Amino acid sequence: MDASPAARPGPAGDPSGFGLGGRLRSASKVLPEQARAHNRALVLQTLYHRGAMSRADLARETALTRVTISDLVAESIADGIIHELGVREAAGPGKPAIVIDIDRDGHRIIGVDLSGTTAFDGAVLDLGGRMLERRSAPFPPGADAERAYSTALGLIRELTAAVTRPVLGIGVGTPGVVRPDGTIVRAPNLSWTEFPLEERLSEDLGLPVLVRNDANAAVLAEYTFAEARADVMLIRIGRGVGAGLIAGGQPLVGARFAAGEIGHVVVGTDRGPRCVCGRVGCLEAWVNAPRLNAEIAAHPGRRREILEDAGARLGIAIAPIVAALDLSEVVIAGAPSLFAGVFVDAATRALHARTLEGVFADVPVRLSDQDGIVLRGAAVMVLSAQLGVS
Ligand SMILES: [Zn+2]
Repeated sequence: MDASPAARPGPAGDPSGFGLGGRLRSASKVLPEQARAHNRALVLQTLYHRGAMSRADLARETALTRVTISDLVAESIADGIIHELGVREAAGPGKPAIVIDIDRDGHRIIGVDLSGTTAFDGAVLDLGGRMLERRSAPFPPGADAERAYSTALGLIRELTAAVTRPVLGIGVGTPGVVRPDGTIVRAPNLSWTEFPLEERLSEDLGLPVLVRNDANAAVLAEYTFAEARADVMLIRIGRGVGAGLIAGGQPLVGARFAAGEIGHVVVGTDRGPRCVCGRVGCLEAWVNAPRLNAEIAAHPGRRREILEDAGARLGIAIAPIVAALDLSEVVIAGAPSLFAGVFVDAATRALHARTLEGVFADVPVRLSDQDGIVLRGAAVMVLSAQLGVS
């Protein structure tokens, strides 16, 4: 399967690799040579979120000239990204207009989630983020770096073989700290150290590939498909704890590309459970799902107390982050059976009790209801990099 001609390189000068979309704002200024890519992203972004409209409406919405719109739309129709839906009767005088929209069914995106503990997950998605097909590949724990790689590559090959439309790109969410070039600094579960995953997959597959941390992928899904606000932290809780951040509509990467690595922040001074990292009382040791499930199984009568305590620990850990970044909301992605209700309520109470009254009192902690959030976030990575849509 060849790369789609629509897979043009994203606007230059964006080290985050998330593209230059209208919703995810780039911090860099737009140079004249980038103007065309910027305008194309603006057109696609507008159609993606507002839906079908005429070229004249699109010119009004984007404040671009009719000539520019006509040119950019023609290019995107040739690429198969935009299609004409037909003629809309004019409401007033004048001739009826042709309505255009993103052709959400014209291309496919492959999304991959390597954060599972026993299997890698993958999906074929359309450009609207709908999952059309899901596959998984069992992954033996303790496998070496090459075994982990060949398992991931095999899963992606299986998915691309099942696709009958051009592939816009492949997005991969992986555990560990990931550099902007898609090199994994360290992911102990997969035995990867300084592993150039993005480069190797691109070479082996001949398709555009983007690799990011799994929580950083997940926050993009919440932002694009669940209308999360422009200042949001998404916390994934499973075996471990990791967060992805968007601040001011901009994905936060950090100086060491480790923004959101909150799992090993020690919460409180009263010690606590021992963590996999060797220390005592890390956030991850308090709230990880296997520990909570085991505690509840051992003490069914204390379920509420166990979840309240864990939720409060999370609230304590996130309060300074919410205050420092002035976040609008915090979203939890994890098993609803554990985190809905008591846990989220306790986290909310602790957060509000530990931040300035009257300022942060309306910051909600809520549970995401997205299935396959990393897979869908991986699709946003591709949409954003290739089309400037987010
Ligand atoms: Zn730890």
